[in-house]
Amino acid sequence: VFVTLEGVDGCGKTTQVARLAQALAATGREVVRLREPGGTPISEKVRALLLDPSNEEMADECELLLYEASRAQLVRQLIEPALTRGAVVLCDRYADSTYAYQAAGRGLDDALVRGANALGSCGCVPDRTLVLDLDVSRAYERATAGSVDRLEAEGLAFQERVQAGYRHLAATEPGRVHLVDATGTVDEVFDRLWNDLSDLWAD
Ligand code: C5P
Ligand code: MG
Repeated sequence: VFVTLEGVDGCGKTTQVARLAQALAATGREVVRLREPGGTPISEKVRALLLDPSNEEMADECELLLYEASRAQLVRQLIEPALTRGAVVLCDRYADSTYAYQAAGRGLDDALVRGANALGSCGCVPDRTLVLDLDVSRAYERATAGSVDRLEAEGLAFQERVQAGYRHLAATEPGRVHLVDATGTVDEVFDRLWNDLSDLWAD
């Protein structure tokens, strides 16, 4: 089973991925917890390039292809083998981030980004994608409270476009992509996510 978590910067994804991994492992399943960009030695090197605030001159197309390069390595090296073993794979961001950030956020052509995603994800599509949905300005305050990466430095209007991209995905692929209310306590959000996923383990 392949589950991904998505949302704007500061939405609380990383905390919830950790909670979900813990809860799933407690049921005795093998859980592989990953993050994007990153997760393999090659992908982490690509991540460093992508997030370095001093890489100001990076072209949008270069950015798109680096995210895809990082993802392809992660899929081939870790995700596919884990799914073949029957593990649950939990990934903090995946191809939907690329749609939200590089198509909706940057303004790259929709069809072009979808095509790039097909290549970068090597045809590996999540069974369920949960988008943590909350007021963007609150998330942005959280995301920019400490050090700020290259994408976070793009500002609030950029994050608003990213959020709109996620909502568009949820509307167009309602079977796979579910919006989850990310307001409230960590426990409340966790319960919503856990309940949403329950049908995936029901057998
Ligand atoms: O830790 P976090 O998930 O926030 O780090 C990944 C960063 O990369 C995010 O800040 C996000 O803005 C950016 N990103 C992006 N396009 C993607 C995936 C991530 O701009 N496709
Ligand atoms: Mg971030």
